Amino acid sequence: MQFEPVIGLEVHAQLATHTKLFCSCHYEYGAAPNTQTCPVCLGMPGVLPVLNRQAVEYAIKMGLATDCTIRPFSRFARKNYFYPDLPKGYQISQYDEPLCYDGGVDIEYDDGEIKRIGLTRIHLEEDAGKSIHTKSGGTRVDFNRCGVPLIEIVSEPDIRSPEEARAYLNKLKQILLYLGVSDCNMEEGSLRCDANISIRPVGQEEFGTKTEMKNMNSFRGVERALQYEIERQTEVLESDGTITQDTLLWNETENRAERMRTKEEAEDYRYFPEPDLLPLEVSEEWLTDIESNMPELPGEKRQRFIDSYGLRDYDAGVLTDNRAVAAYFEDVAKESGEAQLAAKWVMGEVLRVLKDQSIAMEELSLEPRRFAGLLERVADKTVNNTVAKQIFDDMLNSAKTADEIIEEQGLKQVSDTSELETIVEGVIEANPDEYEKYKNGNPQLMGFFMGQVMQETQGKANPQKVKEILGEKLGKPE
Ligand code: ADP
Ligand code: ZN
Ligand code: MG
Repeated sequence: MQFEPVIGLEVHAQLATHTKLFCSCHYEYGAAPNTQTCPVCLGMPGVLPVLNRQAVEYAIKMGLATDCTIRPFSRFARKNYFYPDLPKGYQISQYDEPLCYDGGVDIEYDDGEIKRIGLTRIHLEEDAGKSIHTKSGGTRVDFNRCGVPLIEIVSEPDIRSPEEARAYLNKLKQILLYLGVSDCNMEEGSLRCDANISIRPVGQEEFGTKTEMKNMNSFRGVERALQYEIERQTEVLESDGTITQDTLLWNETENRAERMRTKEEAEDYRYFPEPDLLPLEVSEEWLTDIESNMPELPGEKRQRFIDSYGLRDYDAGVLTDNRAVAAYFEDVAKESGEAQLAAKWVMGEVLRVLKDQSIAMEELSLEPRRFAGLLERVADKTVNNTVAKQIFDDMLNSAKTADEIIEEQGLKQVSDTSELETIVEGVIEANPDEYEKYKNGNPQLMGFFMGQVMQETQGKANPQKVKEILGEKLGKPE
C-alpha cells in the first residue's frame, strides 16, 4: 500500500524585543545564569504582569505578513503544569482566543509551482527557564529565559513531505527576518519547532493517528526526524500494527527518536483565563498604524525587482531570499546604474564569498559604493570579466577602489586593434603546429589561440576583439 505523510508544525519564535513579555527585564542569550530576572518573571507572590506593547506589535506584524485575521479582543490564559524551570507553576499563553488566526504562507517548488500552507493561529506566550544538567548528576535552573516573549505559529496539517516542511520553515524564517521581529537563531533557541506527523493510505480523506516530534535543533534535523518517523509509521502499519499517539524526542546524534510520553501520560493543562491581565484590545487605529509601518515583504520585493530592474523571476527570487542581500544588491545597482551586472555579480561572486567564508552579508568588507566602482569599469570595458574577478578578490582584502587597483597593477583592458593584431600574429607564428591542425579542420583550437593571447596580455585583452582578430587572421579551417 502507498502511504502519504500528513504534517503540521508548531513553531516558536522568540521576539526580539528589548524587554520581556510582562516585566522590564532585558534578556540576552548567553548571560550568566539568573542575572536577568526580577520578582515578576520569577513569579514571586503578589506581583502583577504588565503586557509589553512591542511584543504585541511584533506578533501582529507576523500575523499581517502571513494573511492572518487579527482578533480585536484576544485573551491570555494560564497553562498550568509543574516543572522546575517554571517558577509560577503556569505559563501565560493564549488558548481559545489567539491574537491571530486563519492565515497562510506560500512555499515554492523548484519548478516554480506555489503551494499554500494554512496557518491555524499565531499566539503570544512567555518562555520558560532552562534546566542545566551538570556533569556530577545534579540539575540547576537558570531563570533568565523566563518570561521572554514568544509567538507560537501553528500550521494546518497541510504539509505533505519533509522537504515541504523544510521549505515552510525557511519561508517563516525569511518573513520573520524581513519583519525584524526575531533573530531566528536556532542554535540559541530563538526558533524552535515541534512536528506533528501521521500517514494515511493515498486516496484516503481521513487523517491517521499522529505523533509529535520534539527537540530538533536545525531545519535539517526536522527534515531527518520527519523522514525517520514516516518510515517508522509505515513499517508499523505495513506489519498490521497501530500507531499510538505519542510524543517523541529526536536524538540528533543517533538519528532516531525516543518515546517521551504516551497519550495517557499527557498533561491536562487546566487552561483558564489569566485573571491578572485584561483582555488584549487591538483598536482599528492601532492596527492601521502597524499596517502602515510594515516593511516590504519578500514577495513584494521580488516583484519590484522584476518591474524596476528588469530582472528575471528566478534571479529576483535569489536576490530577495535574504533581506540584507537584497538591500546590498539594490545599493550596488543604484550606485552603478548597472542593475543587470549588479545582479549577475551579487548572485555569482558575492554569494560565493559569503558561502565560502560562512559570513553574513553584513560582514562582507566591500561597501556597495566600491563594488559599484568595479562594475562601472566592467560596463565601460576598462577591464574584462576575468580581470574584474581578480580585482574583486583584491578589493575584499583591502580598502582600495577598483580604479586604484587598475592603476597600480596596470590592469586596463587592451582593446587597441593594432596592438592586439601584433600579438595575435606573434602567437600564430610561434605555434605553427597548432595553426596547421586548425587549418586541417580542428576549429576547437580557436580556444588554444585565445588562451595564448590572454597569457601574452596577462588576461587583459578584450576577449571580443581578440576573437574577431583571430577569426580574421586564422581564416576558416578547411
Ligand atoms: P493537539 O491537540 O495534539 O495539540 P492540534 O489539533 O492542536 O493537536 O494540532 C497540533 C498540530 O498538529 C497542528 O499543527 C496540526 O496541523 C497538526 N495535526 C493535527 N492533526 C494531525 C494529523 N492527524 N497528522 C499530522 N498533523 C496533525
Ligand atoms: Zn523580569
Ligand atoms: Mg494544540
